[in-house]
Amino acid sequence: MNLDELYQTVVLDHARRPRNFGDLPQASAVAEGVNPSCGDEVTVSVKLAADGDKIEDIKFKGAGCAISQASASLMTVKLKGKTRAEALAFEHVFHDMLTAATLPVYPQGFGDLQILEGVRKFPQRVKCATLGWNALKQALTAAA
Ligand code: ZN
Repeated sequence: MNLDELYQTVVLDHARRPRNFGDLPQASAVAEGVNPSCGDEVTVSVKLAADGDKIEDIKFKGAGCAISQASASLMTVKLKGKTRAEALAFEHVFHDMLTAATLPVYPQGFGDLQILEGVRKFPQRVKCATLGWNALKQALTAAA
């Protein structure tokens, strides 16, 4: 399976069966992102552990194109159990992966987030892929 096929498979799977979808009743912070150019909406809810650092639970909900929903779904799977600093580091790398002139060095555990690397070839879709991550960053900042 080449990267294009893998991309299709993973994106469609997450878009059809989003993971960690819904509200988090005891969220530490909630943030919403809207991408008017595509019509995507993503709301991210984060529950921090008692230490205020570890992401104990994370959920998202939203509507929009397959890339926006699949990217948010993949993000929640990756970030559950991560610390705030680890999550923000992933956000930074993810953003660089799609927008920087040269590809970043992927941190350990970045895994299938890398499948979305191909989106960098389609600048109009970058906002779709980063929507959930932007909301996450807002939520973590609000929870500070
Ligand atoms: Zn979109």
